[in-house]
Amino acid sequence: MAERPYIVGNWKMNGTRAMLSEARAIDRSSQRLMKVEVALAPPFTLIHAVHREVEQIGVGAQDCHSGTEGANTGDISASMVADAGAKFVILGHSERRQDHAETNALVRSKVESALEAGIRVILCCGESEETRDEGKAESFVARQLKGSLPESLDNADEVLTIAYEPIWAIGTGRTPTVEDISAMHRSIRALLVELYGEEMAAQVRILYGGSVNPDNAKELLAADEVGGALVGGASLTAESFLGIVLAAAEVQEQ
Ligand code: PEP
Repeated sequence: MAERPYIVGNWKMNGTRAMLSEARAIDRSSQRLMKVEVALAPPFTLIHAVHREVEQIGVGAQDCHSGTEGANTGDISASMVADAGAKFVILGHSERRQDHAETNALVRSKVESALEAGIRVILCCGESEETRDEGKAESFVARQLKGSLPESLDNADEVLTIAYEPIWAIGTGRTPTVEDISAMHRSIRALLVELYGEEMAAQVRILYGGSVNPDNAKELLAADEVGGALVGGASLTAESFLGIVLAAAEVQEQ
C-alpha cells in the first residue's frame, strides 16, 4: 500500500442535493482518518455544492471535454469543473469509453486539457472479461494506457493517478484475485517506468476499482502495488464508504 492510500468515491449519475448530508458525514469522519486521502466525484450538478459542504476531502469531476470553451452544447471543460471546485477529474472510465465511444486518443486529449487547467487526473483502464479469458488483459491495458497517457509528465505525484478497473468487476460484485490485481498493477508500474522513467513512475498511485465494499476492502487494499481504491456503488452512503476508508487506515497501520 502507498504511503497515503487514496480512496475515491465515484457517484456516477447519482445524487441530488439531498445527498449532501452523505458528503458532509464522509468529510467529518475523514477528518479523524488523516492517514487516508479521501475524495468524492459527484455529478457535475453537485460539484460546487459538495465543495462548499466539505473541509477535508477532495472533490472532483467524472469527466470533462477536451476543449477549453466554445460551441459544445451540453459539455463542460476542465477549467469549468475547476472553477466549480473540482481538484481532479476521472477520465477514461469504461462507462465513458463504452457508452460514449471514447477512444484512447480522445481520452489523451482530455487528460492533456485537464493537466493544462491545473487539475489532477485519475485515468481509468481495464479489460473486458473476454480479453482476460484470452490471457490478453495485461497487453490490452498497456495498449490502452499508452494511447491515453500524456507524452510527458511533471510532478507525477501531484497530477496523475491510475485506476485499474476490470470492466467485468464494475458493479457486479465480482473481483479479480489479489494475485491478479497485483500482477496487473506491477505491469502498469513497469509501463510507467518505460514511459516516464523510474523516479516519475514511482510517484504515481495505482488504485484498484471494481466492486470494492467494506467487506473485501481490507484484502484488496493490502495487495501488493495497490495504492487505494476507486469506489462506485459503495461510495453512495457514508456508512459503506467510510467502512472502506477505515479498512484503508487499518491496512496502512499494519
Ligand atoms: C466504478 O465504476 O468506478 C466502480 C468501481 O464501480 P463499483 O465500485 O460499483 O464496481
